[in-house]
Amino acid sequence: MIKSGFRRKMVGVAIGAVVLFFGAFAARSYNMHRFHVEKQTRFMMDTFVTMVVVGPADIGSAAIKAAFERMQEVSDKFNNRDPKGLIYAFNHYGTPITDSEILFVAEKALDISRQTDGAFDITVEPLVELWGFYGDNPALPIDAAIKACLQHIGYQHLIIEKGVLTKDDPAIRIDMGGIAKGYCISQAAAVLREKGITSALIDAGGDVYALGRRGQQLWKVGIRSPRGNDILGFMEVENLAVMGSGDYERFFEHNGKRYHHIFDPRTGYPVEGISGATLLFADPMLADAWNTAVFVLGKQKGRAVVETLPGMEVVIITDEDDLMVTSGLANALQINTESNLSIARRP
Ligand code: ADP
Ligand code: MG
Repeated sequence: MIKSGFRRKMVGVAIGAVVLFFGAFAARSYNMHRFHVEKQTRFMMDTFVTMVVVGPADIGSAAIKAAFERMQEVSDKFNNRDPKGLIYAFNHYGTPITDSEILFVAEKALDISRQTDGAFDITVEPLVELWGFYGDNPALPIDAAIKACLQHIGYQHLIIEKGVLTKDDPAIRIDMGGIAKGYCISQAAAVLREKGITSALIDAGGDVYALGRRGQQLWKVGIRSPRGNDILGFMEVENLAVMGSGDYERFFEHNGKRYHHIFDPRTGYPVEGISGATLLFADPMLADAWNTAVFVLGKQKGRAVVETLPGMEVVIITDEDDLMVTSGLANALQINTESNLSIARRP
C-alpha cells in the first residue's frame, strides 16, 4: 500500500479523473496544415462532457458532432426517469425489454452481479428513489422503509431469455446509472473511430476515455483528491478508460455523517470505507461498472478482486485518506510529481 501522506479538509466538489494539459499540445505535435484540434463541451448525463479530437480539420468537427449525437441517443435510452422510455415502462408496467442495446448492457451488468456476489446490482432503483437521489433533496429514510425496500431488490429477479428482459417480481425496478455512462462513452469512442479519428479524449465529468495517443506521446490523466482539487497523481495512458467516482459526487450530510449515492444492495445503506476510486480498463462500460462494484465491495475486497482481473487497475482513496493501488499501478501512478510514468493498454 502506498501511503500518499495527503490529508486535506474538504473544500468542495471535485471530480475523479482529470485531464491534464487538455489541448495545449497541438502546435508542437502536429503539422497544423493537416491536423486540427477540435474541442467541444456539452451538458449531458447530468454533467459536462468534453471531447477533444485531433485529426484532419475536415473530419474532426463532423466526428465530434456525430459522437455527441450518439452519446445523447444512448443516454436518453438508458434514462429510467423518462416516462416515455423503455426502462420506465419496464419498471412501472412490467413491459418486457427487447431493445438489443439495453439487453447487451443488462447482460454485462448481470455478469458483474454474479462475479461480485450481488455487490453490483442494477435493481437498486427503489433505494435510489427512497433516499431521494433522483431529486435535489436526498435525505435519510427511516430504517423500516429501507428494510421494506430490500424485499424488492435482487438481480436474481431479472431474467434474460431469447432476447427478452423480464422480471419475476413486479416491484423490481432497474437503474443502470452505475454502468450506462461508461457505455455511452464507449459508443462515442466507437463513432469517433468509425469516422477515422485515431486521437481523441472524452471527459464526462471525471470519467475519461483516452483514444489513441496524444500525438507522439500518451494522454496524461490525473487523479483528483476526493476532498479538494489537488491532483494526487497522474498516469499516461492510451486506449484506456479512467473512470472516477466518489462519495463527493452526490451526497448529503446528516448529523455529521456523509451519505452518498452508491448503495450496498444487502443493507440498503450507502457504502462506507472508500471516499474515491478511479478504475482503469480498456472497455469504458466495464470500467464504469467495476468502479461502482469496487465501492460496494470495499477497499480490501475491491482491490483484491481487481487484482485478479487482467488489464484492470484501481486507485482507491480510503475514508482515512490512504491511497491504495493495485500492483500494476505501483510504478505507473506518479504521485504529485511530473516525472516518469506510465500505464498503457492497446485495444
Ligand atoms: P456517476 O459516476 O455517474 O456518479 P457511478 O458510476 O458512481 O455514477 O454510479 C453511481 C450510480 O450507480 C448511482 O447513481 C445509482 O444509479 C447506481 N448504483 C448505486 N448503487 C449501486 C450498486 N450497488 N450497483 C449498481 N449500481 C448502483
Ligand atoms: Mg459506475
